[in-house]
Amino acid sequence: MDEHNIGSLRQVHDALTERGFERLWGMERVVYRGLLDPTGLRVPIRVDVTDIDFVRPPRIFVEEGYDVKGRRLPHLLGESRSFCYYANGVVVLDRYNPGGTILQCLEQADSVIRDAVRGRSDADFADEFNNYWASSFLFVDLPPDFSGKAKIRFLDIDRREERSPVLCLDDSWLADVHRASGKKLPEGEDCFVVSTGVALSLNPNDQWPPNNLHELNRWLRWVDPNLPGYLERSFASGHALTRWVAIRAANGTYVYSATLPPVLQKDEFRKSRQSNLPVMLNRFSSKVEISRANGVPADTDYIFSRNMGKMINLAGKRILLVGVGTIGSFLAQQLAQSGAGTGGGQLALLDTDVLRTANLGRHLLGIPYIDRNKAEACAEFLKQQLPMLDVVHRPGDALDLAAGERLPYDLVIDATGEEALSLALNERAVRSNGLWPPILFGYLIGNGAMAQALMTSDRNHACLKCLKPQLSGEPRFRSLRPDVEVIKVSNMQCADPLHIPYPVTRSVTAASLICEMALAWAGGDVGHRFRSHLFDQARAFSVKDGSPTPSRDCPACQTI
Ligand SMILES: [Zn+2]
Repeated sequence: MDEHNIGSLRQVHDALTERGFERLWGMERVVYRGLLDPTGLRVPIRVDVTDIDFVRPPRIFVEEGYDVKGRRLPHLLGESRSFCYYANGVVVLDRYNPGGTILQCLEQADSVIRDAVRGRSDADFADEFNNYWASSFLFVDLPPDFSGKAKIRFLDIDRREERSPVLCLDDSWLADVHRASGKKLPEGEDCFVVSTGVALSLNPNDQWPPNNLHELNRWLRWVDPNLPGYLERSFASGHALTRWVAIRAANGTYVYSATLPPVLQKDEFRKSRQSNLPVMLNRFSSKVEISRANGVPADTDYIFSRNMGKMINLAGKRILLVGVGTIGSFLAQQLAQSGAGTGGGQLALLDTDVLRTANLGRHLLGIPYIDRNKAEACAEFLKQQLPMLDVVHRPGDALDLAAGERLPYDLVIDATGEEALSLALNERAVRSNGLWPPILFGYLIGNGAMAQALMTSDRNHACLKCLKPQLSGEPRFRSLRPDVEVIKVSNMQCADPLHIPYPVTRSVTAASLICEMALAWAGGDVGHRFRSHLFDQARAFSVKDGSPTPSRDCPACQTI
């Protein structure tokens, strides 16, 4: 241990000793014993201060013997009786004041335990309920507000050997993934799904956890009088020995199951008197063992809106992405992660190029996709990563899209970065006279000195050509500094075609700029239609974001 750590430990030691704590010697870790709320409740604890980096709050354990008249305390988690007084990440502890920091933690723990003992924080049981309910889990993919019969199955959904427990219906994306691996969907076990508006919590004045049907029903009655009985009733029909119930509550999905006890497994009960089984189960309820599991949400809506806050994701939108090169490939991934291709929407990818070694330094895809069409390969990759998405490869050339055609998309994004192609698409869009959906153009200029994106949609706003009406003239919003030349590299020896060098960082940021605008569009307010991001001040000026009007000199806009 270095000099500095010894100094820190000494400060912690002095602070704790002052507070009446004593060190427990002879342990591998640095642990002290003392009291929380020493002038009031006098709760015996151990505090582990081995980690003086204070990355996480020092762990506090309430001693085994401490009990509040049989009452359970919130924040006291698991067998170890570890006491949760700061949620991880809520505070940054001051590593440069170790003595003060340990006292701050004890003060916080004092106040949390006082509230817990007085029952003022019993509501917190609900927030932490999955810690109390079970240590095992299963994935849950059910339609919103679903109740009734679903299945619990072990499915092959990832690259691990073992299968994962899943609660879903036959048309779940998880079932599709299993079937896509060429395997038959297992029969599974029935699980009855019920909903309650309340948040499940534990009764601080009762035994916990419920281990048999008798205890379970007592707890269920305490939570919501409508909840008991589903498990028993499910045995009145069907053959399976094990039955499940899932409660969809305000604070998550919680699952329990029971297996018919041997005494009721006789033919007498299972055939001729099966309708009596619920009554019999109740008679033997303290002999019927209960297993519990936590539900982990795996539905598409949860996955693609969890990180969005108040923003609206791209669910339900039909989006065509033209160009799946360095910008387009990262953009395709961001669009997918933003929910494109969910909720009845579709993400279609179009590119005529194939992936080569020359692309690998700045493309989403790598060696497994070499020599494949970029759009087709990218769609395949995204389907592997996020199999619930509707991502397709649209074959053909972007120039096949005709101005007179009503495109089956809500948004077209051009990330080709090829000026001539972009101008051709722009021309068709302008001439389509409202038949085409909005087009979002995104590109890099001046060797990646700046990323820019423009949303075009109607005649009140600039089209792409409006930004630079004369091909050889000055752009309306000057971005490249005078005398900056675009460096093009051609390495004939390697048969490497002409390309403009810039690192992957520029492409990823350009992709982000475009995806941000797509999200703003989906949210109903595009905001600034012309946005720039400056990377290289030596080569480019910063350009203010805005929504430029059409140019009177624009040859594209003049054609209509
Ligand atoms: Zn124009």
